[in-house]
Amino acid sequence: MCLRSAYAIDNAGIEVLLYMRKEDLIILSIETSCDETAVAVTRNGREILADELISQVDLHALYGGVVPELASRNHAAHIGRLAELAMTNAGIRRNDIDAIAVTYAPGLIGALLVGVNFAKGLALALDVPLVPVHHIRGHIAANYIAYPELEPPFLCCIVSGGNSVIADIRDYTDIRIIGRSRDDAAGECFDKVARILGLGYPGGAALDKLAQSGGDEMRYSLPRPHIEGRPYDMSFSGLKTAIINIVHNAEQRSEDLDKASLAASFAAAVSEILVPRVMAAAVECDRSKIAIAGGVAANTRIRADFLSAAQSGERMLYIPPLRLCGDNAAMIGCQGYYEFLAGVRADMSLNAYATMDVGDSAPFVSSAIR
Ligand code: ADP
Ligand code: MG
Repeated sequence: MCLRSAYAIDNAGIEVLLYMRKEDLIILSIETSCDETAVAVTRNGREILADELISQVDLHALYGGVVPELASRNHAAHIGRLAELAMTNAGIRRNDIDAIAVTYAPGLIGALLVGVNFAKGLALALDVPLVPVHHIRGHIAANYIAYPELEPPFLCCIVSGGNSVIADIRDYTDIRIIGRSRDDAAGECFDKVARILGLGYPGGAALDKLAQSGGDEMRYSLPRPHIEGRPYDMSFSGLKTAIINIVHNAEQRSEDLDKASLAASFAAAVSEILVPRVMAAAVECDRSKIAIAGGVAANTRIRADFLSAAQSGERMLYIPPLRLCGDNAAMIGCQGYYEFLAGVRADMSLNAYATMDVGDSAPFVSSAIR
């Protein structure tokens, strides 16, 4: 049973918040933070009724990376019909929707604005609450969809194209950052290294495949940097520079590059930067459950290392299936449900933000029923 809020004017003419009981809470959610246009319909947070996505990856691959202006234009071209498709596939009509959830930060500002403005229009037209969702919180919530029994508190490692964060999930909407990358995100580093090795864009998955093709991870020595006084912070840019140097040196000496071994050495280095930090943070925060999230959580080596570390550390490990690791709107709908229950609402002044900490909420957020 969910609480549904509505405003009414009482006898004294004062606006009051009413609570209406309704069996299910249906959320239509929108994700346009980067190069995926996505719309989903979820019921009570964790049940996906529809999950639609149009990837622009082929378009941006022509340029070797995401072109922000093209991303925004493509979101605008597709979002309307994707929302219609999501409603059709979910078997709902417009007046079945109880709230609109939308990614408002962080991401490409123009791309985010397309989703935010579409969400505002829809919320206004349907007269339903508008719930702003932080993209990284969405990635964390992918685990709630994959594991219906999972509840906070737990420790989560979020590694994506734009972010690398270790966070303590104290409650659904109470999140504290324990550590973060000081420079490149892990996914960004995967993409850059893949590009150097001529694997195209985005190259994380291709680099993973190459690393699995029989390379020797001991062949190349790569750094595992530590940041003085900040044991849970990470740095990936030195790793990328080390790979560039190895490639240039091989070229200058006309030596053959063992790409499979370089890919395997790289994946091992990233994993050895991430996994020990997360395990140590779990001990310090006294968390028995660990989750991973984001596109890089699809990596074979990282998944395997987390699995064996969790087994030897006697901690429960939650890893979302591959389809929920990358950007999608179902995860935004799921987190939107918990934000909704916490009373988080935005009005028509909602803006998009290119950067924002996962633990923060924007100044507009109201918590009327908290
Ligand atoms: P963002 O939310 O920042 O847009 P995503 O969560 O969509 O990022 O993840 C995309 C990133 O994940 C890209 O950098 C991509 O290269 C990386 N990625 C995808 N699959 C793998 C993999 N198997 N191994 C390593 N990185 C991967
Ligand atoms: Mg993402």
